[in-house]
Order: sequence, then structure tokens, then C-alpha cells
Amino acid sequence: MNGDLEAARRQVAETGRRMIADGLVLGTAGNVSVRVGELVAISPSSIPYHLVDGDDVSVVDLAGKPVAGLNTLPPSSETPMHLAIYAACDANAVVHHHGLSSTAVSTVVDQLPPLHYYALQLGGPTRVADYATFGTDELARTVCDALEDRTAALMQNHGAVAYGDTLDRAYDRARLLEWLCSLHIQAHSLGTPRVLTAAELADVTRQKAERAAR
Ligand code: 13P
Ligand code: ZN
Repeated sequence: MNGDLEAARRQVAETGRRMIADGLVLGTAGNVSVRVGELVAISPSSIPYHLVDGDDVSVVDLAGKPVAGLNTLPPSSETPMHLAIYAACDANAVVHHHGLSSTAVSTVVDQLPPLHYYALQLGGPTRVADYATFGTDELARTVCDALEDRTAALMQNHGAVAYGDTLDRAYDRARLLEWLCSLHIQAHSLGTPRVLTAAELADVTRQKAERAAR
């Protein structure tokens, strides 16, 4: 278990750098966590990612209490949101970012219209969680509401969040959501995009199931 925790802390640190390199966040925005049993390794609050190593990654229990002896820095201000996602969803890792396209789209729609069948990889059309101040229990609640039957959500006038059974999966979903939002913006700059219908999405789901059964 201790080895798993140390590996998770290293992975959280690496993923923070990856968010910067991929342009998903600027400065100290966003946060990343991995659950290891009854503990959660989470990025420290407001520390530039290039200064964060595995040892700097915070460790809290599922109630948010910092684990004695493992924390040199305060955990992310969004710890309540990460813990609420672990409580409500089947998640082992959570990624929150302020990608420009995700954040832009979060200011104008209540749900991301499915322009591409890859929307299904996030469980269906992505909802926008109602706005609440960062770091609050209220934001944790609105995000969990938006995540029902989904693996990602936009956060109104704030950014995006995704989860997965692994950190790689959560990260891929966070990036996919940013791509879907960029698609939305580009399509709208050209005209009024056609939106996939529920029947067309159902056909995709059927096609996937058929292929998986082969
Ligand atoms: P932290 O640096 O406290 O994780 O906050 C960043 C953020 O994106 C808050 O929503
Ligand atoms: Zn944020």
C-alpha cells in the first residue's frame, strides 16, 4: 500500500506538469488526485507544477483530513470536490483543469451539444455544473450533480473535470472534453453546426456493442 501511495504521489506530480505542457492550465490552476484505498494523493494548493515532486503531493483521508507526517504543503482548495467525486462516482483518479475551450464553452451552454460521436466516451453529452465559488462544498455538489451517468463535466465559468479508474484514463477524458469544446467553438465560427440526434448516438452505441461481441 505504501508503495502504491508513493507511486500515486509521483503520478500526481507528473500529471500536473503534463497539464502545463498540454496547455490545459496556466500557472497553478487546476488540480489532480489519485485514490489509494482510504487515502487520496492530491496536488498541493497554489504551488507551480514544476516545483512539485512526489514528496510535495498532499495526502488526505476520505474525510479530507491531512495524514500526519505526509504533508509538507496544504492540499488543493478543491479537495472537497475531489472527495465528493470519490464518494459519488466509481473513480480512482480525478483531473480538474481550466482549458481555454472548456472554460469558454462553460460560459454559454448548459450542456455541450453532441457534434461528434466521441461525446459517448464521456457517457453522453457533457453537462455544465452550475456555478459556485471555487473550493466550496456547493461546487462539489453541483459538479457531482452534473456527473450523474457521465465521466466528465464542465464547470460553469470555471473549467472542466473528469474522472477514471486510472489517472491516465481521467486525463485522456479531460483532454477529450477540451477537444470537444474546441470543436464546438470552431464549428460555431463557421456557421450553425448539425448536432447528432439521440437516434444517431444510439446507433453508435449499438455498433460499438456489436463490434465488441465479435
Ligand atoms: P488549487 O491550487 O488550490 O488546487 O486551486 C486551483 C483551482 O483550479 C481551483 O479551482
Ligand atoms: Zn479551478
